[in-house]
Amino acid sequence: MAYATLDDLLAEGVRGRRVIVRSDLNVPLEGDVPSLTVTDDGRVRASLPVLRKLSEAGAAVIVLAHLGRPKGAPEEKYSLKPAVDVLRELADFPVTLAPDTTGEGARAAAAALADGEVLVVENVRFDARETSKDDAERSAFARELADLAGDDGAYVDDAFGAVHRRHASVYDIAALLPAYQGDLVRDELVVLERLTKDPQRPFVVVLGGSKVSDKLAVIENLIGTADRILVGGGMVFTFLAAQGHQVGASLLEEDQLDTVRGYLERGQRDGTQFVLPTDIVVAQRFAADAAHAVVAADAIESGTYGASGIGLDIGPVTGEDFAANIAEARTVFWNGPMGVFEFDAFAGGTRAVAQALADAQAGGALTVVGGGDSAAAVRGLGFADDRFGHISTGGGASLEYLEGKELPGLTALARD
Ligand code: ADP
Ligand code: MG
Repeated sequence: MAYATLDDLLAEGVRGRRVIVRSDLNVPLEGDVPSLTVTDDGRVRASLPVLRKLSEAGAAVIVLAHLGRPKGAPEEKYSLKPAVDVLRELADFPVTLAPDTTGEGARAAAAALADGEVLVVENVRFDARETSKDDAERSAFARELADLAGDDGAYVDDAFGAVHRRHASVYDIAALLPAYQGDLVRDELVVLERLTKDPQRPFVVVLGGSKVSDKLAVIENLIGTADRILVGGGMVFTFLAAQGHQVGASLLEEDQLDTVRGYLERGQRDGTQFVLPTDIVVAQRFAADAAHAVVAADAIESGTYGASGIGLDIGPVTGEDFAANIAEARTVFWNGPMGVFEFDAFAGGTRAVAQALADAQAGGALTVVGGGDSAAAVRGLGFADDRFGHISTGGGASLEYLEGKELPGLTALARD
């Protein structure tokens, strides 16, 4: 697909024009209203360059973004305020937040916006039409958003994390204004293309996180492409159960057992080796301070906590085994933490994999980390972004790209 880019827009000239940018400011938050704090500012940082370019070029910039999953109405805990506070601290241009999305406050602020200034309107998901399945509803909302730019406006999609959504601010609005691809979306696609088109081998994929069902399609598409798939995180128990093992009280998706069995068979046939844990850190209950023990992956219920034990991390031997697999790779894609890394006691597997990726990167491999929680995990564990080849801002979006799915946000921008 061919896209008009931000540079094309800048070449046309933006001074005196209002340019709408769809950014990804969907940051993880901690605490409660009114003292919510941003725990990982990666997405705000990644959004800065495009806003800076437009501001410097003299555009009046209107930013659309979502945060969390409000139910189609304003809710203080989903306000963009904490994200905008971070943006304001990082930015060397003026940034303000409108009190609403397309209401009187936003319309007045947009109309009064001066060249070089940046206005963020409130969470687009405060309006139920943003995510509506009804084309006409979404379109009507997109029209209100587009109208914020007035005549001669333009639209730039820089929200890679949302390109897999058929939402008004991502998809429908691109039909209403001249539409351009932002630098962040472009950069993310360049990396993902390297993973799908002729990756250097061995190509090792590490998958974890909480739900197998979220990741099934990507596993399906990677069988036959990846040389090895290392499985950790909550999804590992469905794999272990598919092999006939008892998994105690660990996360288990019984309705996926047959599918997973099919994957294990297809992997053997098509040359993709699934590497599963041999040991698991099992806890007495789901808590940061829970008593825990390392048990064999095929004997969780005969371990310390019997049938009530909950597997919360891959074990240390598995961590070493995964690291050894990653060390042999020329290309690594990792999505999904290996354990409940939010609890220190169960962060060991995630730390081992993060370290292995950083080492592989230093040794010349291409390493890519995708997924909101995965990115937050590696940063939270103290790994700087530049220890990896690329940390994607979009978990769902990067997975859907690797699944080979059409991404509505990109289709909407394509020009032939
Ligand atoms: P990402 O956002 O990177 O795609 P996911 O959202 O799929 O990752 O999964 C992240 C979550 O998975 C984390 O909150 C982590 O606590 C959870 N998780 C990892 N391992 C386990 C496990 N063994 N049991 C329960 N939850 C787990
Ligand atoms: Mg997640």
